[in-house]
Amino acid sequence: MKETVIVSGVAGFLGSHLAERLVAEGNRVVGIDNFSSGRRENLEGLRGSPDLTLVRGDLAQPISLPRARTIYHLASPASPPRYLKIPVATLEVNAFGTAQMLAHARRCRARFVLASTSEVYGDPEVHPQPETYWGHVNPIGVRSCYDEGKRFAEALTMAWHRERAVDARIARIFNTYGPRMAPDDGRVVSNFLVAGWKGEPLRIHGTGKQTRSLCYVDDLVEGLVRLARAETVEGPVNLGNPLEEVSVETLAERVVGLTGGRSTIVHDAKAEDDPERRRPDISKAKELLGWTPRIRLEQGLSATAKHFRNS
Ligand code: NAD
Ligand code: UDP
Repeated sequence: MKETVIVSGVAGFLGSHLAERLVAEGNRVVGIDNFSSGRRENLEGLRGSPDLTLVRGDLAQPISLPRARTIYHLASPASPPRYLKIPVATLEVNAFGTAQMLAHARRCRARFVLASTSEVYGDPEVHPQPETYWGHVNPIGVRSCYDEGKRFAEALTMAWHRERAVDARIARIFNTYGPRMAPDDGRVVSNFLVAGWKGEPLRIHGTGKQTRSLCYVDDLVEGLVRLARAETVEGPVNLGNPLEEVSVETLAERVVGLTGGRSTIVHDAKAEDDPERRRPDISKAKELLGWTPRIRLEQGLSATAKHFRNS
């Protein structure tokens, strides 16, 4: 049976992959986006589809929404250079935007899925990070607009769940990469691939010893969908790839190798409050969702490199 699903942030990297997957399964998607970092070309594969309705709108403002069975709330700036430029709007969409989506979920008894982030753990003192870890976040630092915005969104989601019985889920998403990352959005995989194909230097912030665990987009979308469809899930669930924790330096070397070997690697100053390491403990996702990422970095990175070469 066709289900109507709302996806906020639908024109973004993750939102567009999720919408494609949901439509391919026979659902109707109502996508909302203000195109601040989303791009129309991300939805090229759904152009003309009667099963995608695109609503242009800013979720930090009141907006009218159709009834739906499931709501995936992904709208938010996600890359550090972007949210550092618009900290107020970042806090607003995570606070007011999330409140608006939760109220709507309650009205139509929809299941609500929040796209939260591993950034709620800040610069973690516990490694790998289980959901039970409360985090180590600078509440007034430059990244706090995002970190605290998402922490507030999580708190709001749990409050609506406890007090107002919204059937809510929280995905703590760890660094995800793949085709359709915006080439200019400043995240490490896209920055390195763009520079690599141009033969320009790959710029590492700091020593390059800091790590991230990289999850391919198809695996992440599978995890999100399973989280939304699971019978019962209490509290947040980490989604990310613990097998692919790499240092930024190693990633840079791999990208130079994949893109023809013409680029050099240079070091800039360390970014402020940049987390030193990050790796998800995914025991909860494995147990409750039967989910584990399948795509190795070698395979995912080479698919992403091809995409960037052709785009
Ligand atoms: P993205 O920037 O590609 O997508 C975000 C989308 O939200 C964009 O299309 C943007 O235009 C839209 N948007 C932003 N503010 C909005 C507003 N006020 N109203 C309406 N639309 C708005 O980023 P992404 O990587 O696809 O991230 C999607 C979600 O997943 C975000 O909530 C992000 O915090 C979360 N997340 C992503 C990652 C990752 O590695 N990709 C990691 C952790 C969390
Ligand atoms: N980074 C880098 N060069 C770049 C972009 C990012 O060295 O051109 C570093 C960044 O400082 C961080 C890591 O790569 O240590 C991951 O950055 P990204 O912005 O992709 O994600 P996040 O910091 O949100 O995990």
